[in-house]
Amino acid sequence: MTVHPNDPTLPEARMHVVLPGAAVTAKIASSDSCIRGKSASFVRHIGVDLSGTPLEGTFLAGQSFGVVVPGLDAKGRPHKVRLYSIASPSYGEDGFGRVISTTCKRTIEEIADENDPTRSDGHPLILGVCSNWLCDRGVGDEVLVSGPNGKRFVLPTDPSAHDYIFLATGTGIAPFRGMIHELLVGPPEGSPWRAKWSGPCRSRIHLVMGTPYRTDLLYDEWFRALATAHENFTYHTVISREPLPQPGHGPHAHHYVATRMEHFRPLLASNRTLIYACGLAGMQVGVFQALATAGLGGGYLTVHEEIAQIHPSQWTTEQIKRRVRPTHRCMLEVY
Ligand SMILES: Cc1cc2nc3c(=O)[nH]c(=O)nc-3n(C[C@H](O)[C@H](O)[C@H](O)COP(=O)(O)OP(=O)(O)OC[C@H]3O[C@@H](n4cnc5c(N)ncnc54)[C@H](O)[C@@H]3O)c2cc1C
Repeated sequence: MTVHPNDPTLPEARMHVVLPGAAVTAKIASSDSCIRGKSASFVRHIGVDLSGTPLEGTFLAGQSFGVVVPGLDAKGRPHKVRLYSIASPSYGEDGFGRVISTTCKRTIEEIADENDPTRSDGHPLILGVCSNWLCDRGVGDEVLVSGPNGKRFVLPTDPSAHDYIFLATGTGIAPFRGMIHELLVGPPEGSPWRAKWSGPCRSRIHLVMGTPYRTDLLYDEWFRALATAHENFTYHTVISREPLPQPGHGPHAHHYVATRMEHFRPLLASNRTLIYACGLAGMQVGVFQALATAGLGGGYLTVHEEIAQIHPSQWTTEQIKRRVRPTHRCMLEVY
């Protein structure tokens, strides 16, 4: 990847201190619902106490950790590791890097399989193995963990050198809870991280959070309170499926930015700005297209010559997935 003068300098993130095959035992420190109201989805904010393991103090906000469900899968093999973004800042929930957290959504689906006679009712219920196991744990229960994972989706070494647009869908909010805590709230008194913290970051920070329904907003009150307390932080919520005055679905996070391009343009055009997008696989397609269509792809995207002559609004999803790459100023974590 080409390095540009305004690329962020990222800290050296530690990775794979503990491998999934040798996962260590941690304990559930907390488990609380983090949706805004009654919702069709179930999402929990889960604290994990790493005390006494080699993972203590190793995580940076934005990284993820592995969870290994004990026992064997349907094929008699050990369960594969699942990754979860940490929702805590680098100093952890406790200020000492001992308690990390995540934002775990129970996977609940009906998936038909006509070739499987055990599913003859045509609408079998699929309960995701790890997310439901993790959400079922209570405080004090043991959990096998590994990590840290990922080194690029982290805040720059000097946060004040940049402005930020954070784009989240659903549990993609997790890393931004940690990052925004670090940028605006900071480590508590007594934390060894406190001396290194230079106070609330004064950069421009925009968080765009997209969910299907208003009740699916995560950590909503916390973000609202921060937006009230810090004039440089703006919290945008984008609801895609609630009834609109006109027929059809409401906007997704990238539509929101695209339709308010004149509002976002000065920020996006600034070479200080970094974009972080986290959430459902595929969300990057809309983000890349919106940026390029507005003529703002320059610092954030590398476009393959094969499609360079095509107007970005005409790019197909396949072309964007194969022929557009983010630069160091556009960080992606999609799953
Ligand atoms: C970097 C990264 C970060 C992540 N961060 C988060 C996070 O912060 N929060 C979060 O909630 N998730 C996160 N995830 C996703 C997480 O890792 C898991 O993939 C998710 O929780 C589902 O795992 P599961 O074991 O519950 O579901 P699984 O059991 O693995 O099932 C997953 C899917 O497989 C299919 N499937 C499963 N069983 C069957 C079956 N019997 N028949 C047909 N289809 C089936 C279904 O489509 C199902 O939805 C992240 C993933 C990555 C890669």
